Amino acid sequence: MYALSAHEIYRFFHIGDDETAALRGVSLHLSPGEIVAVTGPSGSGKSTLLACLTGLDEPDGGHVDVTGRRLSRRSEAERARLRAANFGILLQWGNLFPHLTVEQNIRFQMRLAGKQDEQRIGFLLENVGLSHRAPAFPSTLSGGETARAGLAVALAANPPVLVADEPTAEVDQETESRLIGHFETRREAGLATLLATHSTALAQRADRIIRLQDGRIESD
Ligand code: ADP
Ligand code: MG
Repeated sequence: MYALSAHEIYRFFHIGDDETAALRGVSLHLSPGEIVAVTGPSGSGKSTLLACLTGLDEPDGGHVDVTGRRLSRRSEAERARLRAANFGILLQWGNLFPHLTVEQNIRFQMRLAGKQDEQRIGFLLENVGLSHRAPAFPSTLSGGETARAGLAVALAANPPVLVADEPTAEVDQETESRLIGHFETRREAGLATLLATHSTALAQRADRIIRLQDGRIESD
C-alpha cells in the first residue's frame, strides 16, 4: 500500500476572466520509507500540489489517497481528521499558533493526531535544539528557531507522511543539516517524506525527484 497517492489531479484558479491551470493531471505515488523531492520553477504548481495532497485544498479533478484512505471529496471535518492522523505539514510560514508556547504547539499537534506522548515532547525539543525555548511564544523566536519549532510540530505525531514546502529556503546551514538528518531518520523508520524544494543539495538527498513544469510532471 502506498503512503500517499494522487491520481490525475487538476486544480484551476480564476481571477476575473483569467484562468490559471495550476495542476493539469498530476499523478504520483509515495511509498513508505521514501523521500521524494518535487522541484520546478516558481509558479510550476508545487505549493498547490502539496496543498491538494494534504487536503488543505480540494482538487477540481482527480483524487488523493493517504495510507489507503480516500482524502478528496470528503467533508471538511473528515479531511481534518485524516490530515491530523496521517500528515506532518511544514509550510514556509504559519506553522505555529501564536497564542501557544513552543511546547504547547507540539502538545496540541499530538492531541489532534490522538497521540499523546509527554516524553516525546522533550525528545523533540532537544532534537531541534529548542529545549531552552520550550516556554517561549512564537513572536519571540528568531527565524531559525521558528523554522525548527515548525519542524518539531510537524514531527510531533511521528506522521506516516511528512510534507514540507521549501523547508530549507530561509534557514541557516545548521538547521538545513538538522532537517536533512530528520528526513533520513524517517526513511530508516519506514516513514514517507515529500518535499518541494529549489535546493539541489536537498533534492540530491531524495530517493526520487519529480519535476513539475506548468502544472504537469515533466519527469519522475
Ligand atoms: P510554486 O509553488 O511552484 O511556485 P504555486 O503552486 O504557488 O507554484 O502556483 C502555481 C500557479 O497557480 C501560479 O501561476 C500561481 O499564480 C497560481 N495560483 C496559486 N494559488 C493561487 C490562488 N489562490 N489564486 C490564484 N492563482 C493561484
Ligand atoms: Mg511554492
